[in-house]
Amino acid sequence: MEEERSLNFIEQIVEKDLQEGVNDGRIQTRFPPEPNGYLHIGHVKAICLDFGIAEKYNGICNLRFDDTNPAKEDTEYVETIERDIAWLGFKWGKIFYASDYFEQLYDLAIRFIKEGKAYVDEQTPEQIAEQKGTPTEPGVASPYRDRPVEENLRLFQAMQNGEIEEGRMVLRAKIDMAHPNMHFRDPIMYRIITSHPHHRTGRRWNVYPMYDFAHGQSDYFEGVTHSICTLEFEVHRPLYDYFLDQITGANFIGMSPYGPDYRPKQREFNRLNITYTVMSKRKMLQLVQEHLVAGWDDPRMPTVCGLRRRGYTPTAIRNFMDRIGYTKVEGMIDQGLLEHTIREDLKETAPRICAIFDPVKLVITNYEGNGEILVGENIDGHPELGTREMPFARELYIERGDFLEEADNKFYRLSPNGREVRLKNAYIIQATGCEKDANGNITTVFATYDPTSKSGTEGGNRKTKATINWVECSSALEAEVRLYDRLFAVENPAAEEGDFRDLLNPDSLKVVTAKVEGSLRSELHAPIIQNGIEQENHYQLLKQGYFVVDPDTTAEHLVLNRTCSLKDNYLK
Ligand code: ATP
Ligand code: MG
Repeated sequence: MEEERSLNFIEQIVEKDLQEGVNDGRIQTRFPPEPNGYLHIGHVKAICLDFGIAEKYNGICNLRFDDTNPAKEDTEYVETIERDIAWLGFKWGKIFYASDYFEQLYDLAIRFIKEGKAYVDEQTPEQIAEQKGTPTEPGVASPYRDRPVEENLRLFQAMQNGEIEEGRMVLRAKIDMAHPNMHFRDPIMYRIITSHPHHRTGRRWNVYPMYDFAHGQSDYFEGVTHSICTLEFEVHRPLYDYFLDQITGANFIGMSPYGPDYRPKQREFNRLNITYTVMSKRKMLQLVQEHLVAGWDDPRMPTVCGLRRRGYTPTAIRNFMDRIGYTKVEGMIDQGLLEHTIREDLKETAPRICAIFDPVKLVITNYEGNGEILVGENIDGHPELGTREMPFARELYIERGDFLEEADNKFYRLSPNGREVRLKNAYIIQATGCEKDANGNITTVFATYDPTSKSGTEGGNRKTKATINWVECSSALEAEVRLYDRLFAVENPAAEEGDFRDLLNPDSLKVVTAKVEGSLRSELHAPIIQNGIEQENHYQLLKQGYFVVDPDTTAEHLVLNRTCSLKDNYLK
């Protein structure tokens, strides 16, 4: 979409900072996924903003894996996240890991303890939760809150040395148990995890920093200027600032190369939620593990790899994000808008071919030709976008529904009633009759053609009420066609009572065997490279919808996935 749009509120903040020379005019963002699952379209919203801001204002966007919980993280996820971002067409500056900072964060924790700003708590998580209080009632101080510094140091080191069992102790910041912001009521800074090795640091650490202690500091060590995240972190922002206050300005201790005045600022935008799907990693993982979908890249999944396999293009996904924009208000986006953007893109770019989903044979009894090749434009009316060869012969496949043995005069397609019908890109024919099997099912339709009516010749201008699709029998390819629909039967599965798995759409996948134009064969193995990344082969199957070649395709077996139907009700 090239239409002019006004600046979003984050861009306005960035432009103001640039005008005021904040952080010496440096713009640095980061995209901080936790490598504990696959990226979904919600993440793409964050990606488009983080990378988009950097691109637009000559800054840098780094990729930072927020890998502070070894129990859930894995290198498998690191690799897929990198692949998905590259496919979307974004380029990161550097790759960082929160685990790169474990040493510095540990030193900082020790410093906090020495300054009386942190203590080791031996209570159970339940006890700690009970003491938190409510927004209107102050919390209760832990009995360990006033431990001497020496004891805190010894215990924290014992935690790190593996001498304390997982779950037995935590390190808490000593802030204010009566603070109106619950996140200030002595938040946990460190916990023990010994049950799982870390995917990068192995068994080096037995204590791991919590999000609130790790995230702001990581931004700071890297030199991030604008730390953009989703709205649920807004209530964490004062804590983000509190931890930074301890090491910047007058408290500067040299942990950043940018001097005492530099500090990152957190800004929050609204999450993306889309109808008829779920966007939680936990629920997606459940669908995968219980084989309710075929995997993370099942074309019904809202994951980036799922959308890719469904036939979405990076252009369409990025246009979608532009369209919905960034605000401070949570909402739900109609899945129809997503489908609208992919149609808009493929309408312009996807070559059109014929595919017959429910074939019946058509025999043109007066056709004597041999080896005739007709020409079809990839996109009708745009010969500059290429053409394809369409072999024509006496025996063709047509859609069963395009023939009626007995039709009323509202049926304009084939019927042995003297009516003329055009075969797309070919000749005008008239049905003469049909043949049936013992059960009365039509097996063959018979017709005659008019040799002077060929498309592209003078006789080709003759009008008919209907044009039908066809595929020549001997050159046709057989294709497994997977007709996908929405994954859930209800608009907002997350908002319903009961088990979200009971709300799956039972008709989200139907498979048919279709006859497809042979011209597809030569294109299948010609990969499309964009930005150095292999892109999918997209087609419009005439009258059927937009389709993409599935990676299950082999030399013998063609598999096509339906991306979306042709009809667009969204703008109505
Ligand atoms: P979890 O915290 O449950 O693992 P998450 O979806 O928050 O899941 P992260 O890997 O932490 O996953 O997210 C990385 C970034 O993507 C964060 O900045 C987060 O705010 C952003 N993000 C995640 N989900 C959405 C969404 N639905 N819309 C917009 N941004 C999102
Ligand atoms: Mg998260």
